[in-house]
Amino acid sequence: MLSHGFRHLRTSDTEQTSTLFGGYRQYWRAIDDGKNEKGAVVKIILAAPRGFCAGVDRAIQIVERAITKFGPPVYVRHEIVHNRHVVERLKELGAIFVEELSECPDDRPVIFSAHGVPKSVPLEAASRNMIYLDATCPLVSKVHVEAERHFAVGRDIILIGHAGHPEVIGTMGQLPLGAVTLVETGKDARKLQVKNPKNLAYVTQTTLSVDDTKEIVDILKSRFPDIAEPHKEDICYATTNRQAAVKAMAGQCDLVLVLGATTSSNSMRLVEVAKKSGAPAARLIESKADINWAQMKTVQVLGLTAGASAPESLVREVLAEIEARGPVELVTLETATENVSFKLPQMLRG
Ligand code: SF4
Repeated sequence: MLSHGFRHLRTSDTEQTSTLFGGYRQYWRAIDDGKNEKGAVVKIILAAPRGFCAGVDRAIQIVERAITKFGPPVYVRHEIVHNRHVVERLKELGAIFVEELSECPDDRPVIFSAHGVPKSVPLEAASRNMIYLDATCPLVSKVHVEAERHFAVGRDIILIGHAGHPEVIGTMGQLPLGAVTLVETGKDARKLQVKNPKNLAYVTQTTLSVDDTKEIVDILKSRFPDIAEPHKEDICYATTNRQAAVKAMAGQCDLVLVLGATTSSNSMRLVEVAKKSGAPAARLIESKADINWAQMKTVQVLGLTAGASAPESLVREVLAEIEARGPVELVTLETATENVSFKLPQMLRG
């Protein structure tokens, strides 16, 4: 018997506004009422939005179209997006993934991943007369431009992000060595020493935890009240929306599963957000093969979502696998709708 108070929210086949909950208007849509003759119904709450964002969609299209236009092989510097399934499919189409430009021949096109690259990378490609396409998400490029503007007016720049993540390497690499100081945690922010507290600015990685970042920003602002902020938050819409959806569902789930990769920052943050928002357990899985069926035996209500680089096909496979083992009641919890899309580079349009 389900004991989580969902039944009154179910509707037949139409969307119905229920409550204002956690600051977000909730829509619950019954997709399938798994009538139960065989055993307990597993309730699955599917987060919306989930999965691919506009930046990932654009990056994948850039690789596909480049292969069509130039023929295989097309080189891609770093995983185009952090998802093994996406990378494997593109390899089959004719993409070759490398970590450094030095691994690419001069006479084949190369694509830079959605995470962005240091300025030195396109400069090297140009010096070698290579054809190159930049799949950096426009929302990452926006942060690059912000950092450059602060630098141009002489500000010291603080980047809030995770050391070693390609986006952080790319953002720091927009400016000369030493111009950007990385702050990863609240502790870093508390002990940070700066040359001129009146001439500071901060920017952030786009895929951070909204709540953790706010805590770090609050510390920086209390220590350096004159610090310049981004005009519009750097954490992107997709990261924010996926975290909000998980937050809304977490307290009602016995387990939240996040489809994604350990290298995917936004996917890892979804697991953390689920745990912090009341889910007794939350796990990252790469595919249906990672489902822990022993753990699933104790689950009455499962939350399911996917990071911004995880294809919807993986979500559908997980649902099918669970449905194959018993009745399922599936509802979608929609906390935002998205209609963002980004233009392809001029070279691949039309
Ligand atoms: S997660 Fe955000 S910043 Fe990253 S590719 Fe998607 S939209 Fe762009």
